[in-house]
Amino acid sequence: MVTETKNENMDDLISDFSRFYILTILYEGPTHGYRVISRFKKRVKKEVSPSLVYPFLKQLEAKGLVKHTKKPVGEKERKVFEFTSEGRELCTGLFKRFAELVSIAIEPSLYVCAHCGCKVYEGGYHETIDGKETTFCCMHCARSYKEMKKLAKKAAQK
Ligand SMILES: [Zn+2]
Repeated sequence: MVTETKNENMDDLISDFSRFYILTILYEGPTHGYRVISRFKKRVKKEVSPSLVYPFLKQLEAKGLVKHTKKPVGEKERKVFEFTSEGRELCTGLFKRFAELVSIAIEPSLYVCAHCGCKVYEGGYHETIDGKETTFCCMHCARSYKEMKKLAKKAAQK
């Protein structure tokens, strides 16, 4: 939805990343600009400039992806922004695409449980079975796996 030119410099890349984060914050529910900034700082451990946040919100609103209502927050009246249904839909699509990219990037470091086939992101349970280092999500899966192996061996001996 936001098309970028290819000769973007590092600053632009970072601000794209910032925009992406702003979208994830908005996605959680209605929020005012100031809260976007404070949440951003908490999560990304980096300041985001109001001169990025407010124009970006305006841009999104101009495209019909975000709308605002004025609500009293404390003593002040603030603009509370939220996604329109169209904006929300677009964002869901964007996050899905992003999630796919991320899972492709981390795939080589993933283990798969030899018993249940679930993905093991870190740690897991390792055991050497028949001289082979085998990964499981948990020790229960390892036990089931060994029992099945034993049964299979018995069946083969008959
Ligand atoms: Zn398992």
